[in-house]
Amino acid sequence: MAHATEHTFATPVELEPGILRLTLPLPTGPRHVHCYFLRGDDGWLLVDTGLGLTETPWGEILAALDGPVTRIFITHMHPDHVGGAEAAAAATGASVIQGALDYTQCERVWGSTDWPERIAEWFIRHGVPPAVSEELIESGHAFADFVRFVWNPTLVEPGDEVDGWSVLATPGHADGHLSLERDGVLIAGDTLLAPITPAVGLYPDSRPDPLGDYLETLGRLAELAPRVSYGGHGDPIADPAARCAKIAYHHDRRLEHTEFVLTAVPRSGYEVSHDLFGTDLPPIQRRFAVAESLSHLERLVALGRAGRREDDRTVAYTARSSGGRAPV
Ligand SMILES: [Zn+2]
Repeated sequence: MAHATEHTFATPVELEPGILRLTLPLPTGPRHVHCYFLRGDDGWLLVDTGLGLTETPWGEILAALDGPVTRIFITHMHPDHVGGAEAAAAATGASVIQGALDYTQCERVWGSTDWPERIAEWFIRHGVPPAVSEELIESGHAFADFVRFVWNPTLVEPGDEVDGWSVLATPGHADGHLSLERDGVLIAGDTLLAPITPAVGLYPDSRPDPLGDYLETLGRLAELAPRVSYGGHGDPIADPAARCAKIAYHHDRRLEHTEFVLTAVPRSGYEVSHDLFGTDLPPIQRRFAVAESLSHLERLVALGRAGRREDDRTVAYTARSSGGRAPV
């Protein structure tokens, strides 16, 4: 295990009055995901749903509550958050609420058959050898069978309210990521985590500069300075503003490192990922490494600190001093 936190699975635990945490197991990665029950006017609001594993004992979980679940809110469309939505909705009879942008991407990735092919082409364009690309696609779709999202949920936008909680746009980890805030409590999804740092990657059809989005999110959350932040994995964060600063610093250092490994000769996101994350990674981690390298490369381009060379077949990046981005 990457961390020492012990978890009680599938039994809601009270964190403070009106806020319960439900922890569900994951087969990989951090090995667990947190969902939350927030007390609303007419019942509980469930935030996130874990993976769509048939063994999730929703009946037992709900029996431990003192009232019904009346709404389900999804922070973002990653498998460990949206995957159990169908089962949770069936068990509770509650309506599912999801961000409009997030739902569009959810449908495109999990509800279409051509996504694996499109992402494979995109990886090849970013320098991933075709054989490796296939491995990356397979690893990325290992969870696809456990994604059972709910079609046509109630759509919300940043600025809306759900059960007295403000809906905040917190893009970066996912383009349409939403968080909830009320009375100094932030339900952050995967926007703020500790001790792990949320992944921020570039993907096909994603917003052009996800790391720029994320750093802007961190700035806004630091200014909001909630009293506490409860995230999708790991520990509660007692000083969210300080955590925002620490994560922003981490990305600043990685941006410097990324800038440092660029040369006058164009290099692909795949090549750069070997400098940043090492040469020996299993496919699932290489996938994140490529996406994360690309988010840093695109941020550097946006800042004028790197150049992008693009033709019909490939995208590659150059050091700024070689003039890669200079307008003709
Ligand atoms: Zn997650």
